[in-house]
Amino acid sequence: MADRTKAVILIGDGLGDRPVAELDGRTPLEAADTPTLDSIAADGECGQMDPIGPGVRAGSDTAHLAILGYDPYRVYTGRGPFEALGIGMEVEHGDVCFRCNFATLEGELKLEGEEFSGAKIADRRAGRIASGTAELAAAVNGMVIEDVTCLVKESVEHRAALILRGPGLGPKVSDVDPHEEGVAPHAARGEDEPSAKAARILNQFVLRSWEKLKDHPVNREREQEGKPPANVVMPRGAGLAPHLTPFAEKYGIAGACVVETGLIAGIGRYLAMTVPEVPGATGGMDTDELALARKIVEMLEGHDFVLCNLKAPDLGGHDGKAQQKMAAAQKLDALARYVLDHAPGDLHLAVTADHSTPISFGDHTGDTVPLAIHGPNVRPDGVQAFSERAVVGGGLVRVRGRDLMPILTNLMGVQEKFGA
Ligand SMILES: [Zn+2]
Repeated sequence: MADRTKAVILIGDGLGDRPVAELDGRTPLEAADTPTLDSIAADGECGQMDPIGPGVRAGSDTAHLAILGYDPYRVYTGRGPFEALGIGMEVEHGDVCFRCNFATLEGELKLEGEEFSGAKIADRRAGRIASGTAELAAAVNGMVIEDVTCLVKESVEHRAALILRGPGLGPKVSDVDPHEEGVAPHAARGEDEPSAKAARILNQFVLRSWEKLKDHPVNREREQEGKPPANVVMPRGAGLAPHLTPFAEKYGIAGACVVETGLIAGIGRYLAMTVPEVPGATGGMDTDELALARKIVEMLEGHDFVLCNLKAPDLGGHDGKAQQKMAAAQKLDALARYVLDHAPGDLHLAVTADHSTPISFGDHTGDTVPLAIHGPNVRPDGVQAFSERAVVGGGLVRVRGRDLMPILTNLMGVQEKFGA
């Protein structure tokens, strides 16, 4: 048997695009100067990839789950758990998690029978509160209601996440956040018995959050400054933290995630992968892509597999800035160059994207993304450049995100045989 190799998946976040008028109908990737990515395609095996399925508009979280070989349709019950993971909370299998807003409530909130009354939401975002939310979250964190612990952590601006941790909780819980102003919070309802328990706890939590926050010093100060107080927590988007087989157990190899965003780091931690800090990786256009590259090379010393996500390309896509997205593609090119030049031993390097974020659309679309795999065991095809269209007709033809790990573990020589 041949020697095993290591592998890296390099993901340009939102890198895929559509023809852009100001680039004479080219995509940013086609227009950018990316000699390393082109040489990876020319020496490697290429194709198109549907991150989740043809035409499906993927989020970064669901796409990364798929690319790591976990079926998002089975494991993704709602955004709550991934929101909590994304801000660095430790999420456990069985937790019911919510996205939350700190909001402004007017009146005296009461929970009578199964309805909230006496108060209405005056501002769903508490004036987009920018500071003090860590203190507010600390004031409501750790509450115990019945046999359930309520864990709260602040995110950016008015956002936060809530975890309900305890026995017998279900995720089919309606939103307390009414998604409009001038009305009372909606008392949560559960669709089945475990979800009804979660809803009951959740309603109590919301009531107590108001009791603890209405006279909190942060809010007293806000009111003195004429700002709306952040005096209640409004949960929505319930989801059950799924059971996911740890990466090392699923593939029999040690894996690391070298990433910039909390969301992808959280997925890596949940899969018990190594997720190192990367000083200099900001997740913005000012990020130090070579810091990411050096960390990949460092991780390859003790791991067989590294997934890296460079956030920058997604930003230009969301902002409709073609030149910026070209510059981000060039950052990805420099990152790939460093990894190829410094990786210890034989390496298979896959370059792709988690979804397209076209300049013309400003959000994620369900278009295919390009995929190129470089390394000692690939069969080079006729593709000469790395772009959305240049890879069409490559040896990998058109695969799904969830096909990528089997393709790589086969090339790496680490996959068990299926059958005799
Ligand atoms: Zn995006």
